[in-house]
Amino acid sequence: MRQVIIAGNWKMYKTAGEARRLVEDLKPLVGATQVEIVVCPPFTALAAAVNAASGTNISVGAQDLFWEDEGPYTGEVSGPMLKDLGCRFCIIGHSERRQYFGETDASVRKKVQAAFRSDLIPIVCVGETLAEREDGKTLEVCRRQVEEGLGGLTPEKIARLVVAYEPVWAIGTGKTATPQDAQEVIGFIRELLGKMYGKDPAQRCRIQYGGSVKPENIASFMEQPDIDGALVGGASLDPISFAAIVNTAA
Ligand code: 13P
Repeated sequence: MRQVIIAGNWKMYKTAGEARRLVEDLKPLVGATQVEIVVCPPFTALAAAVNAASGTNISVGAQDLFWEDEGPYTGEVSGPMLKDLGCRFCIIGHSERRQYFGETDASVRKKVQAAFRSDLIPIVCVGETLAEREDGKTLEVCRRQVEEGLGGLTPEKIARLVVAYEPVWAIGTGKTATPQDAQEVIGFIRELLGKMYGKDPAQRCRIQYGGSVKPENIASFMEQPDIDGALVGGASLDPISFAAIVNTAA
């Protein structure tokens, strides 16, 4: 059985001090859960979050990394640096990075390999835009993102990694995919990973839904057979609502 995983993508919110407080507030609210909990603060707040989460069931992830381990790449942060800080996860290929920062399936592929080199578990984001959905291209887009972004790995790595299906039109909009639509795409992704790497690793790979997840709607997603958790944006910035999502998903 796949362990449920709920991750909070804090995006560009929270200073180091605010991150420490958020993790401190979260701790007593999620203490007893079986759910794997991940918080992903901005780079500048990672150390504070790691420190506050130490000795708890809360893991810390980064929101991006660069694909080289070191070198003359001004402004970038590498896998070994994140690992050294105490990160366990790293979000890769979020739609905001694809939209505003030129992330492509080719860069996602290099970053996924870099994350594994540093023993970080990638949370790889895929999903279609509204125009692509309206054109009936949802599955085609997700197929391309999975085949190109997650090509060249091993079955063992596929079994470890996390995929987040986030329809771009559902992010920060209050609109969600229906649980059935999310299941359709996520089931398709699992089947595709099965064709690429074999059934067993595809069954072990955890696939999340993301896009306007709230305490009120998480249960309907968790009822779906292939949905293993959520990648939460806005609602992860408040400890009470994030804890409610975690505890409802358990
Ligand atoms: P919201 O939950 O704010 O819609 O954001 C989703 C997201 O982008 C998580 O990565």
